[in-house]
Amino acid sequence: MDNISRSIYEKAFNKYQEAKEAVSWVQERLNYHGYRLTVDGIWGDKTENAVRQFQKTRGLVVDGIVGKDTRKALEVQVAHFKDSEFKCKCPGWCNGLPSKGVSKGFLLRLEQVRAEVNKLYPDPSGKGRPVIIRSGYRCERWNKQQGGAAKSQHMISNPLAAADILVPGVTPNNLGNICDRIFDDGGVGLGGATIVHVDNRGQRARWWYN
Ligand SMILES: [Zn+2]
Repeated sequence: MDNISRSIYEKAFNKYQEAKEAVSWVQERLNYHGYRLTVDGIWGDKTENAVRQFQKTRGLVVDGIVGKDTRKALEVQVAHFKDSEFKCKCPGWCNGLPSKGVSKGFLLRLEQVRAEVNKLYPDPSGKGRPVIIRSGYRCERWNKQQGGAAKSQHMISNPLAAADILVPGVTPNNLGNICDRIFDDGGVGLGGATIVHVDNRGQRARWWYN
């Protein structure tokens, strides 16, 4: 290094600070999406592995680089869903939701579904198409009465991470294709006449209704 000066040092230091802030942002957003990273602004193996895992579960190119698509997925916030939409529809047999409420990770997936739906099938009115929760939590008694599976994710997940959804104006087939991508490592029930089942069971499962 020939020139050593205050200005060279400060330039490099500012660049380093900038990089650290950017990495901290990535770590904070990953934590929002359920990871448990130390927010120190240092790009180590843990951060890179988390980025790769995040990309894998979101159906993105797994390259460990936070580019445009990964940034967009990291920016997703829970904004369009309320816990009350997922309440059990039984006549007061339960408290409405499991003890741990509704999974934030699950809501984030639904936000992604909603964003994708509105990208591919824009609402002509410009208001944005809603994702309707047809069925969320089901207590044991209600699940039985509705003829649900004995180990239904609607019943056993706690926090709740399962729902039957529909989008007015979008066919269950088209909605199913989106869910198939976004719930890559979860459960998706396809081929239904009105709804698509989605859940965050932590492993891939696919089945067809009718
Ligand atoms: Zn109930």
